Amino acid sequence: MKNPLENEIVSAELLENEIYDLCLQTNFWTWSTQTKVDPIAVNYAKGVYFWDINGKKYLDFNSMVMCVNIGHEDERVIKAMVNQLYELPFAGPRMATKPRALLGKALKTILPEPLERFLYTLGGADANENAIKLARSYTGKYKILTRYRSYHGATYGAIALTGDPRRITWEPSVMMGVVHFLDPYRYRSTFHHNSPNITDAEFALDYLRHLEEIIVFEGPETIAAILIETVTGTNGIIIPPLGYLQGVRALCDKYNIVMICDEVMSGFGRTGEWFAFNHWDVTPDIVTMAKGLTSGYAPLGAIAMKKEIADSFNEKVFQGGLTYNGHAVSLAAAFAVINVMKTDRIVDNSREMGKLLNKLLVEMLNNHPSVGEIRSIGLFGVMELVKNRETKEPMSPFNQNNKIMMEFRQRCLDLGLYIHIHWHKVLIIPPLIITAEQLMDGFKVIDRALKITDAYVE
Ligand code: PLP
Repeated sequence: MKNPLENEIVSAELLENEIYDLCLQTNFWTWSTQTKVDPIAVNYAKGVYFWDINGKKYLDFNSMVMCVNIGHEDERVIKAMVNQLYELPFAGPRMATKPRALLGKALKTILPEPLERFLYTLGGADANENAIKLARSYTGKYKILTRYRSYHGATYGAIALTGDPRRITWEPSVMMGVVHFLDPYRYRSTFHHNSPNITDAEFALDYLRHLEEIIVFEGPETIAAILIETVTGTNGIIIPPLGYLQGVRALCDKYNIVMICDEVMSGFGRTGEWFAFNHWDVTPDIVTMAKGLTSGYAPLGAIAMKKEIADSFNEKVFQGGLTYNGHAVSLAAAFAVINVMKTDRIVDNSREMGKLLNKLLVEMLNNHPSVGEIRSIGLFGVMELVKNRETKEPMSPFNQNNKIMMEFRQRCLDLGLYIHIHWHKVLIIPPLIITAEQLMDGFKVIDRALKITDAYVE
C-alpha cells in the first residue's frame, strides 16, 4: 500500500519537547522493556558535561557509553571529520585511502611492535567476532575460552563469548564452541585460598590452575583462543592480580592458543596506559578495540594482530567483511582522536586523576557503610554496594537493578550526575580530560546519594 505522505518533505524544524515524544513513538530501544523507557532528551554536550532539552546540565561520569574518552565535542575531531566528508565521504573497504593509511601509521605508534596489522570494524562486537574468526583459521582449532564475568558484545558470536547473563536469553541459539571459566575476582571469590593471608600472586596462581585444568579437560588441541577483557568493564572493574595476565600468556604459549585481549572498554587511556595490558608487560596475539578509538565521534572498531596471524592469510582468502569496514569518516575521527590524546597528554591525565579517583573512592568506603569494596585503575572505578559488610550481601540481587539501586541512580541524576549502575555496582568511568575539581564535584553528589543506600544497611 502506498503511503500518502511519501512525497512530503519532513521539516527538520522540531520543537524541543517533540524530540522526546517522537523518539518514544518511533524508536525501538536497545536493552529495554519498551514501555519502561524514559530517555534523557539530550541536546548538547561539551567536555565532561551534557545538557538536556530543558537546559539541565549533567556531569558525565560514564563517558556516555564508556566511550567519550577525550570528552564531548572536541573541535579538532569534528573538523577532521568534516574535512574528510568534503574530501571523500566514503570508499569501499578494499580501497586504499588517506585516512586508512594514516590510522594504520598512528596505531603502530601506540601498540607494541608485534601488533602491526589492523582490520577495521564497525564497533566492539564485530571486532571480537572477527578476532575469533582469525584465531580459528590461524590455529585450525575451534573452541574459545572466555570468562563468566565478561561482556564482549551482543551479536551472534559476541553474545556467546559474553559470560554474564545477557547471553542467557538467546541460548541455545548462540554460536557454538565457547567454554567459560572463572575470573580472579578477589572480593567475591569462593576459592578456598581466598584468605587475607594469601598474597595476590598466590591468589592469581589458583585461578591460573583452574584455567589450566579447564584447558586440559577441554583438550588443548581443540582450543583456538582465550579471549579476556584485560580489565573487566561492566561486570565490575576486575583488575588482574599480580602475575595473572603473564600466567594466561604462558598458558597460551604452552598450549598453542591465541591470546586475545578485549580492550574495547579498557583501551585508549582508560586505565592510565594506552592499553590495559601495558600495566603487566604482556603482549597479546590479538587486541580488539572500539569505543575510545574514536571517542564515540563515529562508529569504529579495530583488531590489531601479530604479523604471523596476518601472514597466515597470505595465500588464502580471509572470508569476511562488511560494507562499512573502516568507513572513511570513522578512520579520520580515530586518527584525530589519537593526535588529540597525544597533544593533550590525556593518558597522563587519566593516570594522575586516577590517583585522585582512588582517594575519593577510599573516602566513600570509609564514610559509608553501604560501600563494601572499591577498586580502580586509572579513571576506571567501581563501588560495590552491600547490605552487610560481613556477609557481603549485595545491595541488589544477582542480575537485577533493584529499586534501591534505581533510587540511588535517580538521586544522582536529580543532582546532575550521569552515572552507570550494574546490579549492585556503581561504575565510575568519566571522560579522561576530567579535572580534579570536576571529579570532586561528582563525588559530592555520590556522597549525598549514598545516604539512600546506607539506610538499607542491616
Ligand atoms: N567488549 C567490551 C569489553 C565492551 O565493553 C563492549 C561494549 O560495551 C563490547 C565489547 C561491544 O562493543 P560494541 O557495543 O561497540 O559492539
